[in-house]
Amino acid sequence: MAVDFQLKGQAAVITGSTSGVGQAFALTLARQGVDVVLNGLGDPAAIEADRKAMADETGVRVLYHPADMTKPAEIADLIGYAHRELGRLDILINNAGIQHVAPVDEFPDAKWDAIIAINLSAAFHATKHAVPIMKAQGRGRIVNLASVHGLVASPFKSAYAAAKHGLVGFTKACALELARTGITVNAICPGYLRTPLVEAQIADQARTRGIPEDRVIEEVILTAHPNRAFVEYDHLGGLLLYMVSDQGASTNGAALPVDGGWTAA
Ligand code: NAD
Repeated sequence: MAVDFQLKGQAAVITGSTSGVGQAFALTLARQGVDVVLNGLGDPAAIEADRKAMADETGVRVLYHPADMTKPAEIADLIGYAHRELGRLDILINNAGIQHVAPVDEFPDAKWDAIIAINLSAAFHATKHAVPIMKAQGRGRIVNLASVHGLVASPFKSAYAAAKHGLVGFTKACALELARTGITVNAICPGYLRTPLVEAQIADQARTRGIPEDRVIEEVILTAHPNRAFVEYDHLGGLLLYMVSDQGASTNGAALPVDGGWTAA
């Protein structure tokens, strides 16, 4: 059964959408007729090729803004650019994120600061600038890419767990504050997907724990999932569309796990 989420003509910003989940989310929205602004790091030629391919496939406007999520002024400029160029802003997906795995007593200060900036503070800065636009429109949808680590923790991930728990708290506070404005704010909390972020983490964990990478996958990564399987992009896309559609109007302040049962334990 094909569901029409009636998103055609809306406009979205997806932070960190040059790779992984953010890129998949941008494509999911573009295929529903949503104009999108991509953002993220990477080789400019590869980003432009991906941008053009998405625009050609979907027929919507696909723009790119290079804001660095550690820089509040650039985040403000990203939101302003989207509003100016697309004439509206209906959907904000705070997705950009990085990971670093290390014991807390050896955790590099610069990595801590970067994880808090990109995974947590960037969502605040983007939300702060998007909300006045959404309030003026009388409707908006903000989705924060948290993690199962916004609900539970794992060893060696102090910064990531702190940032993602913070992001879930931020989601709830904003949801309550904006509950009568037509804007909803929710978090998606995935378990492991095999994105570049997780591939790097498998290597980090192997180093930190002193075991080979295939043992990290079997003994660290997939043991967390009771179903012993990675989460796939397709397991997230339908939830995203529901959250940003009118059908999602009563889902507000939620932090929904998509984790193969991890947080049921
Ligand atoms: P990824 O590494 O594939 O993509 C991360 C994106 O963020 C890239 O586009 C990258 O360029 C961008 N980014 C990083 N630093 C940036 C900066 N300073 N400024 C702008 N953009 C920046 O990772 P992913 O796995 O797709 O992760 C996306 C989100 O999903 C993250 O918030 C991550 O924490 C979350 N998440 C991922 C998993 C997983 O298993 N992969 C699980 C739970 C949550």
